[in-house]
Amino acid sequence: MTSMFDSVQFAKGVGPKMAELLSKIGISTIYDLMTYPPFKYVNRELTKKREVRDGEYLTLVGEVLQSGMTFLRSRKTLFTAVIKTESGYVTAKWFNNPYLNGAIKQGDIIVLSGKVSIRRALMEMLHPEYEKFPEEDVELIHTGRIVPVYHLTKDMSQRWLRKVIKWSVDSYSANIEEDIPSELILKRGLMKISDAVRAMHYPSKSEEVEKALERMKYSELFYAGMKVAVRKEKNNIIGDFNYVAESLLVKKLLEGLSFTLTDDQKNAFQMIKRDMQSRVPMNRLLMGDVGSGKTLIAAMAMLTAVESGYQSVLMAPTEILAQQHFSVLSKLFSQLKVRIRLVTSSVKERDRGLLDIERGDVDVVIGTHALIEDEVRFKDLKLVIIDEQHRFGVVHRSKLRNKGIVADYLVMTATPIPRSLSLAVYGEMDITEIKEKPKQQKTIKTKWVSNKAQMKMYQFIEKRIDAKESCFIVCPAIDIGGEADMKSVERVYEEVKKKYLLRARVGKIHSRLSQEEKTDVMEMLNRGEIDVLVGTTVIEVGIDVTNATVMVILSAERFGLSQLHQLRGRVGRGEKQSYCFLVSGDKVSEDGIVRLKTIAKTNDGFEIAEMDLRMRGMGEAWGSMQSGIPRFKYADWFDDFQLMKVAFSDASSLMSSDKNLLKEDNRCVKINLTRRNSEEID
Ligand code: ADP
Ligand code: MG
Repeated sequence: MTSMFDSVQFAKGVGPKMAELLSKIGISTIYDLMTYPPFKYVNRELTKKREVRDGEYLTLVGEVLQSGMTFLRSRKTLFTAVIKTESGYVTAKWFNNPYLNGAIKQGDIIVLSGKVSIRRALMEMLHPEYEKFPEEDVELIHTGRIVPVYHLTKDMSQRWLRKVIKWSVDSYSANIEEDIPSELILKRGLMKISDAVRAMHYPSKSEEVEKALERMKYSELFYAGMKVAVRKEKNNIIGDFNYVAESLLVKKLLEGLSFTLTDDQKNAFQMIKRDMQSRVPMNRLLMGDVGSGKTLIAAMAMLTAVESGYQSVLMAPTEILAQQHFSVLSKLFSQLKVRIRLVTSSVKERDRGLLDIERGDVDVVIGTHALIEDEVRFKDLKLVIIDEQHRFGVVHRSKLRNKGIVADYLVMTATPIPRSLSLAVYGEMDITEIKEKPKQQKTIKTKWVSNKAQMKMYQFIEKRIDAKESCFIVCPAIDIGGEADMKSVERVYEEVKKKYLLRARVGKIHSRLSQEEKTDVMEMLNRGEIDVLVGTTVIEVGIDVTNATVMVILSAERFGLSQLHQLRGRVGRGEKQSYCFLVSGDKVSEDGIVRLKTIAKTNDGFEIAEMDLRMRGMGEAWGSMQSGIPRFKYADWFDDFQLMKVAFSDASSLMSSDKNLLKEDNRCVKINLTRRNSEEID
């Protein structure tokens, strides 16, 4: 006996060749086939007897009175059938479908569905959907009902897929095991899964479609929610924390600053302090745009740890960023006698002070993610801060757990994450958002200019340079050549020097330079030894240059929304007014226009991220950022956010009321949790 989890090859009507085609649309088992969602439905319910008007779409049933094929000129064929229906005679015509000759015969009862045109009081249908009226106990599937329409792949026909799906639903849907506890089904008024699978393909009325799809969505959202709930439960342990209540070091740090904290910063630190005081390890995400002052909050948390006699680490995604944190924090801590070390691959072995760290003679260690993987051993590590900057989710918590370390976690991110995504990826964390920017920063002025207006733009930039400000110019390519309208670093570098900005000192940066060369040129820019830096997107994760006030993005239509936003974020770091120019080529696609307009219109990273998600979908917009994003077959990350919240909250309550899923009613959850674990975006 075949089971629904067997390969789709064993489905009736599916051989090895079709099985391979099905795998292209994500169907590998009979279960997948049966649960493959239609992407739309067409209503082909039988039309009641009535007067017919020209141009109407109708579904009529009747007997074939005569049929036949004629050969036209240029080897075309025309198959014609005259059908007698309740509403009158219909002539159906199909060009170039010779196989119908023999398939539709005189005396057959058939169903026709399509647009009717009335010619001299006679009804005619051109290329209607047709289906032989089946024998008793067999249902119509292509006509005579609300008909499901599926996404196909090359060499696969709608009728064929409809037939094999029908077979799978008829054979197996009644046996699908319920995957949601009955209590929740009742509480949320859900359909049973077996009914939903059938109704999703063959709704008896159109309202049923929504109900069925809601049920399919609920299941997948609930299990995404369960994964989060499981992670949260894992963090629910008691640690050995004994922090000072008020840190004098923090007080001193704040007194030494030339500014005061923003309200959002104060609030964020309060939350963090409360988490640190708690015996359950902190697990908090601090979200805030670049420049919102997260690093300072991190510094305050670390000082609290130092004063309590604990060690802390700060991990950054790249060497450059780790170095930047090191120099910023060294300065901040310089009067406070904090022992701080940088541990990255470019720091010489003997300067890393690994022994000192192990002995507890170092308070704060800065480095990349390699920090927790390598031979670094700590005396008493209690606070781990992870700066994810422009990536996210790469939290190496288990690594530390394996070393037996129970620590407080603070993850900082500048990536504005759409709400539904942060629920799925960071749902187990407490989230604090910093919205308010430190006062003196001005909103970056963004302008979309055409290629032709470049001269004017460079004249403007010249004035900025005269005012001792500096400028980034980003190109999509490094080398000349390639596509004609694609700007390259090499060409633009020459053009800028020889044509546009004759007096400027120009540097370049791209991925073919060594780490050392890259750092060198960034530092020259920092020291004001160059005015213009022409580069590729490596600038995106570059360092903080407070003097840079102009960001020019060439061939801007070629960049994605979030990339454009991140590039723009490289300027506007200081007190001066900053500018971003989006220079587009002559041909911009419709999507490209929406992207450029969006960036020109708003500085709100969150809004931009949501637009990105709406335009590209989850896989495209975020799939490459990390694994562990659930893959939804039914739910939409955008439109189903409300249902997602409900399902996640149900999952979370279930977990807290029955941690080990021991209740009989929850057994199905335990089973499905394992099965669904493998269904993620790669
Ligand atoms: P983030 O880490 O969020 O990107 P930073 O902590 O690097 O932001 O802060 C950006 C700049 O703003 C730094 O130069 C920092 O000293 C400064 N800054 C931080 N908080 C304030 C504040 N409350 N008022 C004024 N300037 C601030
Ligand atoms: Mg930062």
